[in-house]
Amino acid sequence: MAWDFSTDPEFERQLEWMRAFVREEVWPIEAVEDRLTQADLDRINAPLQEQVKKRGLWAAHLPPELGGQGFGQVKLGLMNEILGTSIYAPPVFGCQAPDSGNSEILALAGTPGQKERWLHPMLAGELRSAFSMTEPDTPGSDPTQLVTRAQRDGDGYVLNGHKWFTSNGSIADFLIVMAKTDPDAPPHRRASMFIVPVDTPGVNIVRDVPTMEHPMERFGVLGGHSEILYTDVRLGPDALLGGEGEGFLIAQKRLVPGRIHHCMRWLGMARRAYDAMCERALYRPVKHGLLKDTQTVQAWIADSAAEMQAARLMTLHAAWVMDNHGSSAARTDVSMIKFFGANVLHDVVDRAVQIHGALGYSGDMPLEMLYRFARHARFVDGADEVHREMVARHALRAYEAPADGVPSEHLPTRREAALRKFESVLNTIQSPA
Ligand SMILES: Cc1cc2nc3c(=O)[nH]c(=O)nc-3n(C[C@H](O)[C@H](O)[C@H](O)COP(=O)(O)OP(=O)(O)OC[C@H]3O[C@@H](n4cnc5c(N)ncnc54)[C@H](O)[C@@H]3O)c2cc1C
Repeated sequence: MAWDFSTDPEFERQLEWMRAFVREEVWPIEAVEDRLTQADLDRINAPLQEQVKKRGLWAAHLPPELGGQGFGQVKLGLMNEILGTSIYAPPVFGCQAPDSGNSEILALAGTPGQKERWLHPMLAGELRSAFSMTEPDTPGSDPTQLVTRAQRDGDGYVLNGHKWFTSNGSIADFLIVMAKTDPDAPPHRRASMFIVPVDTPGVNIVRDVPTMEHPMERFGVLGGHSEILYTDVRLGPDALLGGEGEGFLIAQKRLVPGRIHHCMRWLGMARRAYDAMCERALYRPVKHGLLKDTQTVQAWIADSAAEMQAARLMTLHAAWVMDNHGSSAARTDVSMIKFFGANVLHDVVDRAVQIHGALGYSGDMPLEMLYRFARHARFVDGADEVHREMVARHALRAYEAPADGVPSEHLPTRREAALRKFESVLNTIQSPA
């Protein structure tokens, strides 16, 4: 019987190397981030990326024929837990979102020509990409309602639409755009994906939208979320990714494993907040001792440890289901970890801010930044409500309403049935004289 929580020793050595490397080489970037341009960051990253490549850990999410490692989701999950500790780690390991997901899309649906032109240079770090689906005027939680339109024109298409929150759009070389090709098809067959170089006439990157994460307006830096207007953008036939109407099918294949990586990254982030919380508990005096001596703080530490452990095991289990039974079999598990993990991240960071008081609220600690960053986890990648709905629908399929309207556990009804069942035994029991 296989029921094993251990990590293969050889892979554990890789993880140990990653932990030390990310902490010593990548975390320091955070402390000077406000002074770095994208070009500075690229210069810092280049030698680090070489080390990662030598170690055989570059773009590990891809299959071996594309330079990845073919690790499977459990190993990728464990790697992402470490990468999640810093937003600067994924680019060093060749798995920066949305490039990582887009490379999977291109690997999955791209023609040999598209792979040659877009995928290989992206994997070599020469091109950057973005994924442009969400629109300001339609619900991202139900992308079947999107209105951006790609209309056939000769052997190509003309694209018109308004998108926003296209992450890294302002530093991308090309965009993968989701647009409606057949408004009359069944909802999940209406949209297609297109490769759109950013310098195509009609593509207007209006701005990077200020967010909770970056409240000050800025432009052209890693982590910006672009608003983009597509006006009469003419695309050749080589722009279409996969078949017409296959947009959602391709997106689904990309999103399910991507959610496992996100959840593990959130745990890496939560762990950083947790470590800060535990450290603070050990030295900060309160009225009758240290913070660690108060029941409230003990409860925060214990609850956080338990919640992170639960989220970790659930996520690794979902990864295991995906590795062993495929992505469709893991869909409910993945929905469960999405909303559970997002809330664990939020609650652990919130407690870490609270225990630090003014220091936690200040920019002298990374906690306020983590808190602002963590907030989006509860609605991106499918809002928590949508995932909860999906889990509940799936769970309820195993149940039936009682035909007579009496609950199965109704005690008087069960007692009556039990009296009938044990009638012969009960009749032989003599009542006391
Ligand atoms: C940091 C960040 C990065 C992003 N990166 C990208 C990107 O690279 N590319 C891209 O295309 N998009 C990106 N997005 C957009 C993201 O995918 C959307 O924000 C998300 O899909 C939610 O869509 P919406 O914002 O339109 O909210 P809506 O769909 O309008 O939903 C708003 C709220 O309504 C509620 N709700 C929705 N549906 C239901 C339901 N069925 N039941 C109950 N309540 C419900 C939920 O509370 C939800 O939070 C990013 C967003 C953020 C914040």
